[in-house]
Amino acid sequence: MLPSREASIDVLDDAAVAALAGWLAHSVSGLSQRDGVTVRVGILGAGQLGQMLALAGIPLGMRFNFFSPTPSASAESVGSVMIGEYDDVAALREFARGVDVVTYEFENVSSEAVAEIEQICPVWPPRAALIASQDRGLEKQEFTRLGIPVAPYRLVDSLAGLEVAVRDVGVPGILKTRRFGYDGKGQVRITARSDAEAAWNALGPAALIYEGFVEFERELSVIAVRSSDGTTLCYPVAENHHRDGILRTSFAPADRLSDAKRHQAESYARALLGAFGYVGVFAIEMFDTASGLVANEMAPRVHNSGHWTIEGAETSQFENHVRAVCSLPLGDCAPVGHSAMFNLIAEHPDTARVLAIPDAHLHLYGKSERSGRKLGHVTIRSRTREDLQRHVDALRAIPHII
Ligand code: AMP
Repeated sequence: MLPSREASIDVLDDAAVAALAGWLAHSVSGLSQRDGVTVRVGILGAGQLGQMLALAGIPLGMRFNFFSPTPSASAESVGSVMIGEYDDVAALREFARGVDVVTYEFENVSSEAVAEIEQICPVWPPRAALIASQDRGLEKQEFTRLGIPVAPYRLVDSLAGLEVAVRDVGVPGILKTRRFGYDGKGQVRITARSDAEAAWNALGPAALIYEGFVEFERELSVIAVRSSDGTTLCYPVAENHHRDGILRTSFAPADRLSDAKRHQAESYARALLGAFGYVGVFAIEMFDTASGLVANEMAPRVHNSGHWTIEGAETSQFENHVRAVCSLPLGDCAPVGHSAMFNLIAEHPDTARVLAIPDAHLHLYGKSERSGRKLGHVTIRSRTREDLQRHVDALRAIPHII
């Protein structure tokens, strides 16, 4: 089991105990109510997830400071951005001193940076979840330890090792970097044993993982949230469609999902959240197969496949994340109607045409157009499936919606 900040107080050093004591003091009343003073939430990263976290937290009396190596139009519209490198300890300490709690909006923050900040203020979600999510090998080991099924896999660190992995696991399969892969980057398909050398040359030398290709019917995700008192809630499962490894659309609640599979999905999320002593929003992506759900990966943060919750759930994933990290009660995750979320990638559609569609909600992240870049999203949230389908068809007729 990976170390969890809640796991055992006797293994924590003095600074960690002080941080934990501070957090416990906050958790009694909830951060945003402390002395009636506005709570400052620090976010590592300054992209669209940070922007949407702030948009959810500002009405609750929170204010947001972002830490990022580069300026960001997304975050600057909703808070102040401190420019600094994630390995600049002095800058991180200064950042932490200006906020009451720190969270992050992407998982490639170094755990050493998080450890520095923990000396000064609480950081949620816990470092153990961050560490596991940063390495596809550790992540799969943790899934397996908790009885969560995964694709057959082998860890690979040489061409000879890859050849053995391809022989053991079989083809087709996917070779992936263990660290710093996202949106399908750092992945190569292997369809024949003879592909191994080219695949190794494309990604190696590096710590890699070779996974058997899962014959899935569709891809699903569940977003869950856990509060500091252990209360855990799950949003309805979403059905997700990817192209070139990038999420394009999510539909929620997922159609044709048996109760057994829904329970299975939720039980995976609950097992992981409990094991990590987690606080905040968490996502797990899964393949839906004839023989059950197979976990692909997890994210210790708000997730693109949960953007529909802004309009499509009683409380959005963003609001529930800031509630959780500020030790406030969680909001209801129940769906409101039927939702479809479309990512806007590379080029912006015509704003007026999108907004002319009934039930359409447009979110732009303030970014300039660039190939493969997520610029915004549109959620259609309708009262009935029939309305949803009609409005989705209308949206799809607009150029640059895919
Ligand atoms: P990932 O970066 O692991 O989320 O992979 C991006 C996308 O590649 C997934 O959403 C799937 O569509 C596909 N993919 C990844 N791993 C596998 C696998 N083992 N079998 C089948 N498809 C996969």
